[in-house]
Amino acid sequence: MKKPFVTRAQLDDITLKYPTPFHLYDEKGINDNAARVNGAFSWNPGFREYFAVKATPNPAILKLLRAKGCGVDCASLPELMLAEASGFRGQEIMFSSNATPAEEFIYAKKLGAIINLDDITHIDFLEEAAGIPETICCRYNPGGNFKISNEIMDTPGEAKYGFTKPQILEGYSRLRDKGARTFGVHAFLASNTLTNEYYPALSRELFGLAVEIKEKTGICLSFINLSGGIGIPYRPEGEPNDIDAIANGVRQAYEDILVPAGLGDVKIFTELGRFMLGPYGCLVATAVHRKEIYKQYIGLDACAANLMRPAIYGAYHHITVAGKEELPATETYDITGSLCENNDKFAIDRKLPPIETGDLIVIHDTGAHGFSMGYNYNGKLRSAELLLKENGEVELIRRAETADDYFATLKGITLPDESFARGKALIR
Ligand SMILES: *Cc1c(COP(=O)(O)O)cnc(C)c1O
Repeated sequence: MKKPFVTRAQLDDITLKYPTPFHLYDEKGINDNAARVNGAFSWNPGFREYFAVKATPNPAILKLLRAKGCGVDCASLPELMLAEASGFRGQEIMFSSNATPAEEFIYAKKLGAIINLDDITHIDFLEEAAGIPETICCRYNPGGNFKISNEIMDTPGEAKYGFTKPQILEGYSRLRDKGARTFGVHAFLASNTLTNEYYPALSRELFGLAVEIKEKTGICLSFINLSGGIGIPYRPEGEPNDIDAIANGVRQAYEDILVPAGLGDVKIFTELGRFMLGPYGCLVATAVHRKEIYKQYIGLDACAANLMRPAIYGAYHHITVAGKEELPATETYDITGSLCENNDKFAIDRKLPPIETGDLIVIHDTGAHGFSMGYNYNGKLRSAELLLKENGEVELIRRAETADDYFATLKGITLPDESFARGKALIR
């Protein structure tokens, strides 16, 4: 059974000050998990997790992870700016972008970030835009299907990312000729994996490549970036990944492949997003309507603009009716948002206890790729983000958008001062 990290009593307290909907993050969960990840990989002296900023782009969260020794992985100018503003410096920043505009390479180089090139043509592009830095990384795409024990995990051959094998071998030589001295490789071959075998299998592939690079170009890689992709169990019956087993699998591959090849000082990097934050955030909403037509519907004050995954991927997110954890699930509901889109459903045919209007609804596992995928369709405003601290206090780490924010980018129109939408009840 999945239990929220907050109780109904805590939520009653929080909602006195902060109206729903909001995303709430669990400081203790985040800290403990980050410590587990670092502990699991402590066999590798250079290990660093570069948290994927796109998963949860909030400085308060980034600072928590920085205090745990994590770096950040960015893919855009504003993400680089967030990293800088949150205190990350130099090689604490990984820039794993694609289809990258020149000004982003320029900024990343200024910050001293590790630039992770997505394509062989980006070597000349980067040289022209910003010059080739001393430390550089290339993203690898082996093509075909990525299989673990004959099961297809994902299809890199269909993915837009990375260099082919011949390109990456040529790329390192060209980068060396242009002055690069410290090299890394990166690959992201499967997303949201629920198996302890993903990183070990990926490691074997990348470690083998590192040996081939050494043999064919004489270049010894300094770091290997396993990127993201470790999943979390969104469903209550799912088994969580075991980070110790995963890290041990990587260690085994390291000792089997890298050490005998004289590459025993390679640093392992990761760029986890979902695994670092997913379970440690939830979306809290209020049931505002009950509707019975051909099905039973519960309408929330949150919508897909606050959490897009169910609408776009049909993703499962567990739902708890706060305070009714122990009641039998006698009802079958579609739990909906208010967008004029029929895919705006957080759950379809979900068995839940009877819901009354006013009930607080906790949507689980929204800590990564939740708030951050939000958008303004139908004029919906982004919610607040709150941090539940280890000491029990709640901190507002991003205020909710107001109608003024929505109007801010529109030219030649402002909301009149006397507008009725300025009424407190409407814009909070
Ligand atoms: C999205 C992304 C990540 C994080 O992926 P998760 O599935 O959240 O672990 C890491 N690196 C890159 C380059 C990404 O695009």
